[in-house]
Amino acid sequence: MSTVLLTNPASGIASVYRWGQSSLPVAAGSTRTVRVDDGAVPFVIPGPGGVPSHLPRQSPRLLFVGTDQGQEAVVELWLDVPPDLDRLTFHASGLPRDATTVGWDGHELAPFHWRCPGCAWMTAEHPLAGRSGLLAVRITVPPGPFRFTNADGLPLLLRRPQERFPYARLEVELRDPESLQALDGRVSVWRGEELLVVHDVLAGERAQITTLAGAATVRAERGIEYMAETSGVRLTAGAVRRLDFPLHRRLRPEEGWIWGDQHTHCYHNDGAHSPRAIARAARGQGLQYVFVSDSPAAFADGAASCDQTGHFLAMPGQEVDTPFCHCSGLNVLGELPHLPFGTRADRYPGPGQWLEATKRQRDANRPCLLQLNHPSHRAEVMERWPLGYFRSWWVADEHPEVTVVENFDFPSWFDRLSRGRHLTGVWNTDTHDVAHYPPGSCRVGLFTHGRITPPAIIDALRRGRAFCTRAPGALLYLEVEGKMPGDTVRGGGRLEAEARAQSAVPIQRIDLVQRGCVVHSIDGQGRRELTERFTIDRGNGQWVLALLYADAPYPDNSHCGTPFDVSGVLAFTNPVYLQ
Ligand SMILES: [Zn+2]
Ligand SMILES: [Zn+2]
Repeated sequence: MSTVLLTNPASGIASVYRWGQSSLPVAAGSTRTVRVDDGAVPFVIPGPGGVPSHLPRQSPRLLFVGTDQGQEAVVELWLDVPPDLDRLTFHASGLPRDATTVGWDGHELAPFHWRCPGCAWMTAEHPLAGRSGLLAVRITVPPGPFRFTNADGLPLLLRRPQERFPYARLEVELRDPESLQALDGRVSVWRGEELLVVHDVLAGERAQITTLAGAATVRAERGIEYMAETSGVRLTAGAVRRLDFPLHRRLRPEEGWIWGDQHTHCYHNDGAHSPRAIARAARGQGLQYVFVSDSPAAFADGAASCDQTGHFLAMPGQEVDTPFCHCSGLNVLGELPHLPFGTRADRYPGPGQWLEATKRQRDANRPCLLQLNHPSHRAEVMERWPLGYFRSWWVADEHPEVTVVENFDFPSWFDRLSRGRHLTGVWNTDTHDVAHYPPGSCRVGLFTHGRITPPAIIDALRRGRAFCTRAPGALLYLEVEGKMPGDTVRGGGRLEAEARAQSAVPIQRIDLVQRGCVVHSIDGQGRRELTERFTIDRGNGQWVLALLYADAPYPDNSHCGTPFDVSGVLAFTNPVYLQ
């Protein structure tokens, strides 16, 4: 091949580089022809991430189009693999599953073992076991543009290089400057707006990153409780640069509360990452628990690998669906009955059978429950999916045993609460790509007396001892006569209540909603922390909850109109019930 065509169908400027020289910009909407055999070796560094349909704006911007050889053309890519890596991870979309082969220089190439069965995007892990050297990838060019990226941030060389690639090395540790303790967290390396590599690092580990020499921005973060820090560095080829990041707290949850995310997808289904990577990312975001929502078998593939007693727990979940609803079994041991996603049939195992199956599995030591996923009766969602699985509040209506619902529209939830239902409302990520949308970007705060065990977590969820927030994050606590969300206050006329909040961004207001109506509104006056006492009248209705409003952008997840409330709610509590 003598030329390669690349296109940038997204926004901004993407770049093709030439070894030791400046970059060639590829503007949005344009295609660039790159000559391969003239002078320095050209290369692309498209960055991590593999689920363009869910995260169109964050997906790598550079797509391959083909070569000048027309049909039957082959694109040949080379990676100079540095030592000490266990495996490389590749993401692709727009390619047939058999279009790609890989192998060490001078050896026969073999097909990639692609994951994500039945998806338009695919993930493959190529085992290295510490071996280094030149790796060749050959791609038979399909009729349309395609994505092919290395998630480890290694450049894809468009020609076989004659010498070793001049990598720089970066080693990063995170710690809390108050306690001096090492922290779980996330390290990413950026060049301008281009994300080169993401590493989730566990306390006590040092992130070891091999990347391009030159100017870079290193970012360290740990979810919503800590401020993200960045550092501009100039990395030198052949040298190791050590960075020690102190991460400063900005939110401090009250005692007894833990963080979790109940909805994530891995590459055993239609997610881009391994169960192990999901668990690491969850710890890196400061969660105490995460559910991997594909199947018990997928969970068994390494999800529990970074569990730590009293600190973090991964649990098996399973999202099951019909064309008319999605639900997740939480803490399920065995498969729930379902037909594969997208199957057309006359009958489907549905919520009735799923509840039966969870009931059979449940015992005192093995609590599990069924969560209704993302029902939304917002007009724009209904319009887009007239018969679709977002239009699914009927599941909660027909099955009173369903006690937890996620990512819903508020008016429909309020309706059910006002009809006397005790229905715990939660926000989850439903992430399919932990590099760009990590677990905990939307999260549940649960009161478990600080316990991180399945019984404590399932019990708190069932009761509704919960508040939820999304990045950049806020803490929101409500008490009525000393009782917390999920509890019931009995008797009384005028009730003493207190709301407490901390927020990463200025608070606009906190609304107290009783039976669907705002009965008290607290002006946040741009503060980030407030406590307010007030009274509420029992006569106004049998439930009360709090909503915190702040100016914080809506999460950029196009998951088919994921029905987060877009009106500016940054956090909400579950109801305190009044009897
Ligand atoms: Zn779903
Ligand atoms: Zn899902």
